[in-house]
Amino acid sequence: VNADTGAPTIFDKIIAKEIPASVVYEDQKVLAFRDINPQAPVHVLVIPKSRDGLTELAKAEQRHEDILGHLLYAAKIVAEKEGIVDGFRVVINSGPSACQSVYHLHLHVLGGRQLKWPAG
Ligand code: 5GP
Repeated sequence: VNADTGAPTIFDKIIAKEIPASVVYEDQKVLAFRDINPQAPVHVLVIPKSRDGLTELAKAEQRHEDILGHLLYAAKIVAEKEGIVDGFRVVINSGPSACQSVYHLHLHVLGGRQLKWPAG
């Protein structure tokens, strides 16, 4: 299981358009693109364009409050664009015990099927 090393991640290359991604929403602060290994018919990742120390949610500081709020609002815009506002889930995995694999904060937006709770 990966742990936070602070090293650049694959998401930097996606932000820089050095590797392709299926972008569904973009603004000055965030980028939203389809997960390469989708766990639902709609599975979109929403990330800050500037990581700024936010490798994982556990590293959040007060200065990150604005971007954290913006990420959540962008998740709602993604849900609207994808036609899943009637039912969707937003997930943040933080740290090895939560199976975080990419250490650039990201929200998973999942929907398009009946989701189970607490898992699946
Ligand atoms: P985590 O496990 O860290 O919460 O989620 C990382 C997510 O990034 C995984 O769902 C994984 O499928 C996705 N992912 C990893 N590498 C790439 C990539 O190169 N492109 C895209 N679109 N998604 C990726």
